[in-house]
Amino acid sequence: MAWSLLVRGGTVIDGTGAPGRRADVALEGDRIAAIAPSLTGEAARVIDAHGLVVGPGFIDAHSHSDLFYFACPSAESKVRQGVTTEVVGMCSFSPAPLSSGQEDVVRAWSGGLVGAAVALDLRWQTFRQYLEALASIHPAVNVAHFVGHGALRIAAMGFENRPASAADVKAMERLLGEAMDAGAFGFSSGLVYAPSAYAETAELIALARAMRSANGLYCSHIRGESSMLLDSIAEAITIGEQGGVGVQVAHVKASGKENWPKIDAALRQLEDARARGVDMMGDVYPYNAGSTKLDNLMPGWAQAGGVGRLLERLADRATRRTIAEECLVDGERWRSVSQGEIGFDQVFIASCARREVEGLSLAQIARQSGVAPADVLMNLLLEQKCTVGMVTFGQSIENVAKVLAHPLVMIGSDSIPLFSGDGPKHGKPHPRSYGTFPRVLAEYARERRLFSLETAVHKMTGMPAARLRLKDRGLLREGYAADVTVFDPALVKDEATYADPHRYPAGIPYVVVNGVVTVEGGQMRGPGAGRVLRP
Ligand SMILES: [Zn+2]
Repeated sequence: MAWSLLVRGGTVIDGTGAPGRRADVALEGDRIAAIAPSLTGEAARVIDAHGLVVGPGFIDAHSHSDLFYFACPSAESKVRQGVTTEVVGMCSFSPAPLSSGQEDVVRAWSGGLVGAAVALDLRWQTFRQYLEALASIHPAVNVAHFVGHGALRIAAMGFENRPASAADVKAMERLLGEAMDAGAFGFSSGLVYAPSAYAETAELIALARAMRSANGLYCSHIRGESSMLLDSIAEAITIGEQGGVGVQVAHVKASGKENWPKIDAALRQLEDARARGVDMMGDVYPYNAGSTKLDNLMPGWAQAGGVGRLLERLADRATRRTIAEECLVDGERWRSVSQGEIGFDQVFIASCARREVEGLSLAQIARQSGVAPADVLMNLLLEQKCTVGMVTFGQSIENVAKVLAHPLVMIGSDSIPLFSGDGPKHGKPHPRSYGTFPRVLAEYARERRLFSLETAVHKMTGMPAARLRLKDRGLLREGYAADVTVFDPALVKDEATYADPHRYPAGIPYVVVNGVVTVEGGQMRGPGAGRVLRP
């Protein structure tokens, strides 16, 4: 027997959650050919894995890399974490479908979230064309796509702040059907982001029903993760129940200190819904800070009509005063639907063309410039046309552990990779972009013993694969795709910090994507072997 690659002598953790065992793993082309305690055949290449863990390649259940691949197909920040598959099209954002003439609206809309969009020419309209464009650039990881509800809404009815009419819903259903036919796994909402937030529950139920026969999954960034947390999870459950589809609650959390105690009730809601037959699950990232676009701090009404209209409102003194009156608390904190009440010292600039403010909090910028923090916020949005990203510290560390350990929850980085003309190491992105998976293995499995290494691996392999109904990924099994990550259980560690986020993790020497050794000796090797996955 001759194999293309033999990984010899490691501890195999197969992704099911079963205990690790000593075994060799043989690959032939893009498939796993054999797994047994000691394989004796010939191999073109041998990797010595003594003392190392051999697992399935990690699956990032929630990522915003969509447009990043076009700027940076090697996706090094991901692959070097051991990730071989990413799920994108999250939180209502996807780069397709795109109606002609709306390229600028979509570019401005997604600007703060995927920096790459600013410079990118969006050369597709249908979801199928977009997937073909992505496949043609050969990203280093496999990519599973969802279609964003915001993209569906913009394409069907523009950026309007109103419930969808029957005709609008019909148009969205048609676009969703096209995306599902082309290879989407379902759709995602971002009910704190305009224009997704303008939808009533009935619109989302209709869309869920429309993808029921195709077995679509609904990924929900819920309507509020702060004061509205429990009602918002209840809404997601209703959509799953009445739409007849599974629901994945994105980045499960309670934002704002006053809401932290609600996390137990939120997790119980998922359990109770499951007990009566609604397919509810969730994902989480292992940090107590979040990250999104800075304009997410603006009230929904102020964003109606798109970024252009928001900028007009921010330029108008009276409207600006109304926004401040609504959101400002005691002059020190800012209240928004997405973040709850957050201090200006808890909001940090992640990315901005004005480089000198990256890494600073709104409070720090205010002190330096002598401008009130609320004005710093609104001035930045206005001057940068909303292409500003932020990192916000509004969550509890204890809650993060509680959610991570929950049996219905898998790992999703929610990473927002930043890219500028200077290259991929731009700004101060949330360290989850570089550290999520090693951090779960190091901090939560090895150090805190929150769960076993096998459970940690399951939450980033077999569990998301089953969620997506991937038939041949997420486990180390004969006949499965040859996506393999080899790591050192004693040394694996995230190195990225908030102050120094562009740091690759340690202790992950080999990553194999579809049989191609993509990371070797901890360094990137080409070529990109990822594929566009279809359900
Ligand atoms: Zn989200």
